[in-house]
Amino acid sequence: EHRTAVAAISGPGRTSDGRPVALLANIGSARDLAAADGAEGVGLFRTELLFLDRSREPELAEQAEAYREVFAALAGRRVVIRTLDAGADKPLPFLHQADEPNPALGVRGLRLVRQRPELLRTQLAAIARAAEQTGAEVWVMAPMVATRAEAAEFADAVHAAGLPKAGVMVEVPAAALRAGQLLEVVDFLSIGTNDLSQYTFAADRQSGLLAELLDPWQPALLRLIAEVGTAGRAAGKPVGVCGEAAADPLLAPVLVGLGMTSLSMSGRALGPVRAALAARSSADCARLARLALDADDAQRARKAVA
Ligand code: PEP
Ligand code: MG
Repeated sequence: EHRTAVAAISGPGRTSDGRPVALLANIGSARDLAAADGAEGVGLFRTELLFLDRSREPELAEQAEAYREVFAALAGRRVVIRTLDAGADKPLPFLHQADEPNPALGVRGLRLVRQRPELLRTQLAAIARAAEQTGAEVWVMAPMVATRAEAAEFADAVHAAGLPKAGVMVEVPAAALRAGQLLEVVDFLSIGTNDLSQYTFAADRQSGLLAELLDPWQPALLRLIAEVGTAGRAAGKPVGVCGEAAADPLLAPVLVGLGMTSLSMSGRALGPVRAALAARSSADCARLARLALDADDAQRARKAVA
């Protein structure tokens, strides 16, 4: 059933002059694949679902089976799987984490598994086992990375598990500012705009009162995305966006103009984003990116591009 849904592909995303932009789906389990009709693959497979509501960590075999189900449905396509992103807005009871006064600034994402390396080792072994049994092109990335040293350590762990492609998410401004250094040690970057907004504007991503600061059209956020795009181009490596920002059809050409080579979003956003890119040339995208970057605020950026 999942296989049928994903097989109905409508070709790669392209600008009107033929520049390819991979259009990928965000999923939380194999169930979401049905809505990913038209995606070239998966750009963010969030693995937290498997770990929720547990009194113990799921065992290697159970994890491998859950990953295999997704990989099998995507044979021949890219699947970017994200290692456990626990802590902060995604607490897991079995971890018995110490209370933190500022969980969003605390031991979360990669920071957590660095303190408990066996969690990461087991997950990577499960991913490797599942990848071996299927024909999907499996890329592995870590959440909440801040430095090149963290990225290098993660890439080593991925390679030690026998998995060839390691990347990291750019969710912390420090990582965006040093994207070039990160790309010295990983194969790709994926920008999580939900968290990157939160940390750039010091604004809780769950606060409705701060929505204006969390607007993905904020020129300061776009500036950080541009840093990543420039570094990606220089390194000749893929850099994409997998946060909510990628689902806005008006913003998509701007993101491509800033140097993004892939956009990953919920299944239902794929059609409108594909159409928006097909209507713009690479030069249009670059011009729109300039307009948005130079705007005084988010509203003016949106208006200038519209
Ligand atoms: C993000 O932060 O933008 C992201 C894609 O990850 P999550 O929403 O799962 O934190
Ligand atoms: Mg995130």
